[in-house]
Amino acid sequence: METLTTSLARLRFDNRFTRELPADPLHGGTTRPVNRAAYSRVQPLAVPAPQIIAWSPEVSAQLGLDDDVWTSDEAAEVFSGTRLLPGSDPHAANYGGHQFGQWAGQLGDGRAIALGEVVDRDGNHQTLQLKGAGPTPYSRRADGLAVLRSSIREFLCSEAMHHLGVPTTRALSLALTGNQVMRDMLYDGNPRLEPGAVVCRVAPSFIRFGNFQLFAARNEIEELRLLADFTIRHHFAHLLPAGAPAAPVAEGEAGLGPDVYAAWFAEVCHLSAAMVVEWMRVGFVHGVMNTDNMSIHGLTIDYGPYGWLDDYNPEWTPNTTDAAGRRYRFGHQPAVVQWNLLQLANAVYPLVGEAAPLEEALNGFGDDYTGRYRGMLRAKLGLVTDRGDDDDPLLHGLLEVLGATETDMTIFHRRLGELTVADLTRLGADPGALSAPEALGDAWYDPGTVAAEARAAAAAWLADYAQRLADEARPDDERRAAMERVNPRYVLRNYLAQEAIDAAEQGDTTLIGTLAEVLRRPYDTQPGRERFEAKRPDWARNRPGCSMLSCSS
Ligand code: AMP
Ligand code: MG
Repeated sequence: METLTTSLARLRFDNRFTRELPADPLHGGTTRPVNRAAYSRVQPLAVPAPQIIAWSPEVSAQLGLDDDVWTSDEAAEVFSGTRLLPGSDPHAANYGGHQFGQWAGQLGDGRAIALGEVVDRDGNHQTLQLKGAGPTPYSRRADGLAVLRSSIREFLCSEAMHHLGVPTTRALSLALTGNQVMRDMLYDGNPRLEPGAVVCRVAPSFIRFGNFQLFAARNEIEELRLLADFTIRHHFAHLLPAGAPAAPVAEGEAGLGPDVYAAWFAEVCHLSAAMVVEWMRVGFVHGVMNTDNMSIHGLTIDYGPYGWLDDYNPEWTPNTTDAAGRRYRFGHQPAVVQWNLLQLANAVYPLVGEAAPLEEALNGFGDDYTGRYRGMLRAKLGLVTDRGDDDDPLLHGLLEVLGATETDMTIFHRRLGELTVADLTRLGADPGALSAPEALGDAWYDPGTVAAEARAAAAAWLADYAQRLADEARPDDERRAAMERVNPRYVLRNYLAQEAIDAAEQGDTTLIGTLAEVLRRPYDTQPGRERFEAKRPDWARNRPGCSMLSCSS
């Protein structure tokens, strides 16, 4: 192996996942069932013309890399899968999952290859994973590759989510491969060649609910226990009983015990509630919340046909593959998380041995989520007092008003913060004044079509809100500042991502960088960047890529 000349030489691998968990005895190989194994070792594909087109300065620094590494051939080779770093142990994980409510059996990393775990500058382990680096035993009928458009979407969105304060996997880099990949984007019989790309994703681990489910479904209870012990030991170490052995528990040993597994499951419930409430805060719709796309860490994972609410509509999903049932629509996401947790509970049941603690944690999810959700909406409104469920009429009334008037969710909340209590009181008494751009007009998609009744309801809500603010007597500027910390000015609007994709497919990648830059400070007002906060233009209303996406990626 040639020696590395850049700061990539500093990356230190410590591959706990492959060292401690059962491996598939075959390396690589074709699509097949893999039993009694957490992963298969595979080799990423070498690509003809690797080129880095975007990278995250924060993730790069976290890993101890210097910025100038990103202009080197070494980085392009390493993060496209063409060159292996010393100490890496590339592998694809084995997992199953429920897809759209149905058990789908073995799925696994069909086009994701983890390079291994590196120790970051804080001493934490981070798994580096290439998405689109070639086929694995889990590729089923697909090619193991990823196209530029979906890779841009993953890169931009996962970094945007991080900077918004939403728990998420990260993206280190985005590389073109020089390969062309055939895709039928809308599954309508019109395949075309698209540029191939690879994203390097970063997370403490990529363990999903589905990793546990597959072992349980196959009655591979020993492997299930090893995976649970591994996960708890390395990622939930605060749950370990005092004096628990530091070394991994070997096959045949007793394991951590029912109480620890139950406590861990309860914690996964809390983490998942904390994640989905953040999606609801920023208007993110995941699009494919299958159990194989649920991180055990409560991180947003697998950015596919996701979308962002423009106008507030709890019924909306961007995923055309889910258009009929809309299982993964915005407003249904918390219920789906709970359903997914139920599937995880079923999977870990053999370790816990009784249903009661799992049921308790699952039922607790409802109250946990509702409490977090109320608190989140209160924060979005700048309220400081907590009136428990007495707040529900005001909070639910808000969502009704937003839904009835085709209101841009992001712009609305910033506007609400800018208006003083005196402004709000005045508007509450004068429905006719609401269409002014500096009132709510800017947030409405079509002020001309807002019916008198909806206008009156909006005014009535503003009057109630103003009254509540008057009761709290918080100074206007203090409330505004607090609201601007939870209500972003910039989100990755669907049409903006599509503009970056259109330009990149024509060879111009500057908009990717600009968007990434804007979205690093989503709560700050950035003069000169007004275009990135504008509501969805009319051309994007029904355009593929903007409001309609399929799983083809
Ligand atoms: P997703 O809907 O992206 O979460 O994918 C579901 C399953 O299909 C996972 O096992 C993926 O690894 C696999 N998959 C998706 N796209 C591809 C592809 N192009 N090549 C191989 N496997 C894929
Ligand atoms: Mg997936």
